[in-house]
Amino acid sequence: MGNGGVSFWWQQLGLPSPRTPLPGDRDADVAIVGAGYTGLWAAYYLKKLQPDLRVVVLEQRFAGFGASGRNGGWLTNSVTGGRAQYGREGGARQQAAMNDTVDEVIRVAAAEGIDADIRKGGELNVARTPAQLARLTAAHAEDASWPHTDVELWGPRRTAAHVRVDGALGGLWHPHCARVHPAKLVAGLAAAVERLGVTIHEETTVSRIEPGRAVTDRGTVRATHVLRATEGFTAGLAGQHRTWLPMNSSMIVTAPLPAAVWDEIGWADAATLGDFAHVYMYAQRTADDRIAFGGRGIPYRYGSRVDTDGGTQERTVRALTSLLREFFPRAAEAPIDHAWSGVLGVPRDWSATVGLDPATGLGWAGGYVGTGVATTNLAGRTLADLVLGRETDLAALPWVGRRARRWEVEPLRWLAVRGLYAAYGVADRQERRGGTLTSPLARVADVVSGRGH
Ligand SMILES: Cc1cc2nc3c(=O)[nH]c(=O)nc-3n(C[C@H](O)[C@H](O)[C@H](O)COP(=O)(O)OP(=O)(O)OC[C@H]3O[C@@H](n4cnc5c(N)ncnc54)[C@H](O)[C@@H]3O)c2cc1C
Repeated sequence: MGNGGVSFWWQQLGLPSPRTPLPGDRDADVAIVGAGYTGLWAAYYLKKLQPDLRVVVLEQRFAGFGASGRNGGWLTNSVTGGRAQYGREGGARQQAAMNDTVDEVIRVAAAEGIDADIRKGGELNVARTPAQLARLTAAHAEDASWPHTDVELWGPRRTAAHVRVDGALGGLWHPHCARVHPAKLVAGLAAAVERLGVTIHEETTVSRIEPGRAVTDRGTVRATHVLRATEGFTAGLAGQHRTWLPMNSSMIVTAPLPAAVWDEIGWADAATLGDFAHVYMYAQRTADDRIAFGGRGIPYRYGSRVDTDGGTQERTVRALTSLLREFFPRAAEAPIDHAWSGVLGVPRDWSATVGLDPATGLGWAGGYVGTGVATTNLAGRTLADLVLGRETDLAALPWVGRRARRWEVEPLRWLAVRGLYAAYGVADRQERRGGTLTSPLARVADVVSGRGH
């Protein structure tokens, strides 16, 4: 079994040869820090809107090195942190924008010739305990009370006819989600951005962002606008240590499953698959007929340290493998080909933001928690509008310009996050013993973490 190597997705594609680092000081109109989806989408739309703009992207390793090249490949319409925080009218606008975003990514991929194994089969989340089913039913009622959600509540038979998850008591499905190959998407996007005339400097680490400049280990880029798109790595920038907490998520992938196994499992339309556990799982059927299966690993490292190459602890690999086999006993014989992990960015209020301070020219986007594959596109389009001063509907969405308070100092941060995930794990185990009530431990953890707002 491979472990790390950035991710299975990159191993499958082959790690890219590095682009030229920043050769020294230079000037630009817009400097973007981070070549993940956020930075690349911002660069893409800026150049589409104003082709003569000088846009430079600065990346510490290579384009797609971060979460964008490692994720579960759910291109979904989820509003990070929930719609309700924006009120009825704002929440509905935010949701409609997210639905459009899923289609916008699919549209641009087709227009730019990016073959990222994209397939729009919707998103299915299942419940495997009575408490999970109660949460699923409540989530359906809540979702259904909003416009633009299109959710369907499925009983156990309909769920099983779709994808045979062992012990599934029901499912919640919606159509606004596509399965993607994350690394193919980010690699294709980087190439598309370069075709538009953007320069991506790799192996160039930004240490400090200031009004009018991004300071790197290889020189300084002076620019009218500097956009921070560093997500789970943000804590490494001067002055940003407590902005977004880097949270780990880990994945495993099976070898391709034989047709006879797929005949029993179903999963013909490749809907993305998740569950209603507190420490939830997420999975996709890959284009080459594997199951890629993710969940939380060691959630957080002391002092906001982040990994370097996606290496994952044996304990996490064992836990994910055993859960995968519980879900799909028919796939129990399938070897696990690879394991990896990545970091996502978690704001103190668990809600993503995008913004630009016109006084300083400094912009940012991120804090997507586990749902950034689509949201990064909305962020990129919005950043482009903000930089160019366009008064669009996107620039007026309610998530624009939000600021959350900072995370606690260590060791409180470490203790809180470790404690929280231990509590969620215990709550899941309690709920497996039966009962329809969500474990009180999970309710307390939600309040403490700020997730329950
Ligand atoms: C294992 C895993 C599974 C996930 N699954 C899903 C999913 O299925 N669906 C979903 O919607 N979301 C998922 N996510 C979240 C999603 O992948 C992210 O929200 C999204 O990729 C964020 O993109 P980004 O460009 O903002 O950040 P990243 O992709 O992390 O890019 C940030 C980039 O900035 C660079 N960088 C950082 N600091 C510096 C610096 N100082 N100088 C220069 N460069 C720097 C990094 O090297 C990196 O390339 C998952 C995340 C993980 C880790």
